[in-house]
Amino acid sequence: MKILVPVKRVIDYNVKVRVKADHSDVDLSNVKMALNPFCEIAVEEAIRLKEAGTATEVVVVSIGPKAVQEQIRAALALGADRGIHIEAESGSEPLSVAKLLAKVVAEEQPDLVLLGKQAIDADNNQTGQMLAALTGMGQGTFASAVKVEGDEILVTREVDGGLQTIGLKLPAVITTDLRLNEPRYASLPNIMKAKRKPLEVKTPAELGVELRVHTQLLKVEPPVARKGGCKVASVAELVDKLKNEAKVI
Ligand code: AMP
Repeated sequence: MKILVPVKRVIDYNVKVRVKADHSDVDLSNVKMALNPFCEIAVEEAIRLKEAGTATEVVVVSIGPKAVQEQIRAALALGADRGIHIEAESGSEPLSVAKLLAKVVAEEQPDLVLLGKQAIDADNNQTGQMLAALTGMGQGTFASAVKVEGDEILVTREVDGGLQTIGLKLPAVITTDLRLNEPRYASLPNIMKAKRKPLEVKTPAELGVELRVHTQLLKVEPPVARKGGCKVASVAELVDKLKNEAKVI
């Protein structure tokens, strides 16, 4: 079984994001970048399937500028076998990403594609669903557990108010939710080994995909700053403030 894991380079989730002074976008200068956390979960699950003897190869793919090779190497250090970098401008839209991934799927013929449920930069939550539609594969989104049984995969999905288990014929597309697993840290020897693992570079033109822009970013605004709280001396004062200042009761 071959598993393809698309991974995205995003701002590290610990970073407090700043908006550019002209509100044109988020300021990425000197900001720490990392593997999208949901992609990290996808890589971890793929490696666990390999360690369990279910999968034989884990291939990671990332679309973006040269810098995304850092995240491909990070996934290789976690245990993936080889990487594919598709050189494109940063900020490719989900539809373009899905079209490129569909071409990679056609070339690589994976049995399973494991994506994150969403990238934490734009919170699109679209790519996996679009890839499934473009390739005709079944999809199991928001997975909190997966189990391969022969040529089928059982996916427990996190849905509103509970869990739903579905069975999909392989090959299939799965997107990971937070509770699927807890990703490991890469060890120093594995980080060194990852430098020698194969990393192939391709262009969208080589894959026969023309990248089109369907949306235009008009404006980015930071969240409204919270007002400071205050301490009240008594319940009576609290009720008075809720009634007359906040006007919520
Ligand atoms: P999104 O639909 O943008 O929220 O992203 C969902 C998932 O699609 C991510 O967790 C990745 O697995 C994959 N993905 C999105 N953008 C890229 C990219 N540029 N390169 C590789 N995978 C991506």
